Order: sequence, then structure tokens, then C-alpha cells
Amino acid sequence: MTIKFENNLQYARELDARDTLKSCRTRFHFPEINGQPAVYFVGNSLGLCPVTAREAMDAELRVWAEYGVKGHFREANPWYSYHELLSPLVAPLVGAQEHEVVCMNSLTVNLHLLFVSFYRPTRRRYKIISEAKMFPSDRYMLETQARHHGFEPDDAIIEVEPRPGESCIREEDILAKIEEHKDELAMVFFGAVNYFTGQFFDVVKLTEAAHEVGAIAGFDLAHAIGNLPLQLHDWQVDFAAWCSYKYLNAGPGNVAGIFVHEKHARDTELPRFGGWWGHDKERRFLMENHFQPMPTAEGWQLSNTPVFGMAVKKASLEIFNETGVRRLREKSLMLTSYLEYIFNDVVAKFPDLQIKIITPEDTAKRGCQLSIKLTGTDRSLLEALTTKGALVDFREPDVIRAAPAPLYNSFEDVFQFGRILSSALRAR
Ligand SMILES: *Cc1c(COP(=O)(O)O)cnc(C)c1O
Repeated sequence: MTIKFENNLQYARELDARDTLKSCRTRFHFPEINGQPAVYFVGNSLGLCPVTAREAMDAELRVWAEYGVKGHFREANPWYSYHELLSPLVAPLVGAQEHEVVCMNSLTVNLHLLFVSFYRPTRRRYKIISEAKMFPSDRYMLETQARHHGFEPDDAIIEVEPRPGESCIREEDILAKIEEHKDELAMVFFGAVNYFTGQFFDVVKLTEAAHEVGAIAGFDLAHAIGNLPLQLHDWQVDFAAWCSYKYLNAGPGNVAGIFVHEKHARDTELPRFGGWWGHDKERRFLMENHFQPMPTAEGWQLSNTPVFGMAVKKASLEIFNETGVRRLREKSLMLTSYLEYIFNDVVAKFPDLQIKIITPEDTAKRGCQLSIKLTGTDRSLLEALTTKGALVDFREPDVIRAAPAPLYNSFEDVFQFGRILSSALRAR
């Protein structure tokens, strides 16, 4: 991006004045620090509470109070099919057909369920390629899946690491590993956006490379959904899963979601674990034996819908649907580039310090998050930033993550972050 940014309040406010999404900010509650709305750059960890969330939840509580069990089959938004209201809202965020997505369970649970169908190792083909420094829950999922099938995790899981002295992983190294292990590879499984570095992997290339050697391509989209536009259907991704409480702002631990490409979803013979909510919906209440899965992503559902959480999630997804993920990305590219500029401008005034951004400079290879490596300072910087009004987070051993979310963060937030960072560094 070749914009000549400036580090001053008036300039930041001019950028805000031109921002066509600026009114979205008023649709969220901001936590306060020292009586002021915080500079909230932790939407990659827990997104903000939409103002409409409370009414959405209250509405379903009222239905429960007034109708009891009849709430399942009321005319308006019946609970028994409540998840169906969310699919059309989620599908555009990941570039899926409506029947390729469903909201259910939580992320790690869903990954295990999807692995039941998509990780079907044989003695010869059992290896999984993933990124080094994967999110721990995903790593534990991989390890226990390998063990479950009788393999040793250290043998079955191949991690692609950054080269010595580098923080991000080179795509050519991933492709080379896929080629190297082509005869024993069962799956390529990556966090599409790495939680630690913010690196966005080339989902298209990885999927193609996996398919070329006869492996499945699966992705964890926890840090990608609501952050970057995705086209899972066209990209031929086999399966994906995500949580809803990060960029999707659905609230702590709320219902997650999955994608199963229709080429697999249609195959009702595909092995899976079953429950009544995955059963043919025309016959669900006939209470018969013999599980007959739906030929859609819904065929992976187990249980009936947790409506209260879903209601809040729906309220949040509606905001995304009004703005559209492409407009968000346009703003996000500017907003994060502005943060990068402000950060570098501030840090240049402290030449004794070695703190730097490790997220790729190439905007095509990142979402909104910037990860900052704190060589020579420590965690105390985080406390100083928080006290002064900026919420970012810290990930062991030495990285601060700052994620300006285009839906509710402003250019002025970025300017204020720079001011707070500068003051925290001066006070060391
Ligand atoms: C946030 C996150 C999780 C969290 O998993 P839950 O099952 O929702 O607790 C898992 N994986 C990744 C990559 C994440 O970023």
C-alpha cells in the first residue's frame, strides 16, 4: 500500500470521516478503562458485544416463558430449525453454499467430529502436515486423533517450521514437505490464519497441493472467519471449522460452525458419528432406528440447537451481512497498514529497543492482526498498555498481538494506540 500516512490526530480523524463503515462502531459495547472506551485490539480473542445481543436473547427467553415446549414449533423462528436461520448468514463469510455450512457445538469438538469423517488413515497413508506453532487445542486434537488410530503423534504429524531466524513459514517449504511425503500423506491441516504470527496461508495452493498427492485439505478458520474473505466452495476445500467468539462477536464460548464441501456432504455413506439432529429431517420425529444422515453439512449435527447462544450469534451475524466481508476487508487493509505505520513510527524513536512486527509485510498474507515480538522488553509492557487504555494480548513466550477489527475499530483508535505505546515505552 503506497499511502503516505501521518501520525497525528487530525489525520486519523480525516480517515475516519471518509470511512463508510464508521457507523458500525456504535453497534457494539466498548469496555472502559479510566472512564474512557478502551482501544480494543483483542477482537481476535473475544469480539465485542453487539448492542442487539441482549434483545435477541431476551426475545427467546420470552418465548420460553410464554410458550414453553411449544417454542419448538412456533411459526416465527421455531427452535427445532433455529440453526437454519444462521446458515445463510454464515455461508457468505466463508464463500460456501448454504447447505455446506452449519452452526453447532464448539470448535475443538467439531474438529474431532470432522476428523472422524476425513482422517481415515491407512498403514501407508496416515501422516498429517500442519504448521509448527499451531494453536495448542488443534495440536492436542491432532495428537489424540493420531493415537486413536494407533499412530505415534511425532511420527504421524509433520510440522512445517519457519526457517532459522524467521518467524513466518514459507509457502515453498510447505509445498516441498507435501511433495516429500506425498505417498504417506492423509491430510494437510492448517490454521488458515496462524493465531500467533497472523500469517494467512495460501488456502488455494495448499488445497491444490494436497489434492494432487491424494490427501484431504482441512482448515481451522478461527482467525480467518470475519477477518478475510474466503471462497471455500470454489477453492475445493474439503472441510473447515471455526469458532464464533473472535471476529464474529458471538460471545464467549458461543456456538461454532463447520463447512463440508458438497462433494462430501452429499455422500451419506461417509463415516461419521451420528445424532438425531443429523438425521433426515423429514423423519427425525418418527423416532425410528437406523441413522440416515442429511446430505448436507447438517448431517454432522448431533444435538438439538442451543437457541439462546444462537440468538446472540444471529444478532451479530446480521451486522456482518449488512456490511459484507469485502467492504470490511477493504477497510481492514487500510486500518492494519495504518497500525503498522504508527507502530514503526513510534518504535523508531526508541533505537535501543528491539521490538518488531513479525506478521508478514505483504498485505495479501495477513488479516487484521499484527504480532509484535518483544525482544529486550517483557510482559510488563502489556500491563503498561492496559493501564493506559489499550487492550492487546500477550502470547508466550514474547509476542503481543494487536488486531484492529474493521467492524468497530477506528483510525483514531490506531492513533491513540500509538500515543499509548509511546508513553508506555517512555515510562520503562
Ligand atoms: C481460539 C482457537 C481455538 C479455541 O478452541 P475452542 O474449542 O473454541 O475452545 C482453537 N483453535 C484455534 C486455531 C483457535 O484460534
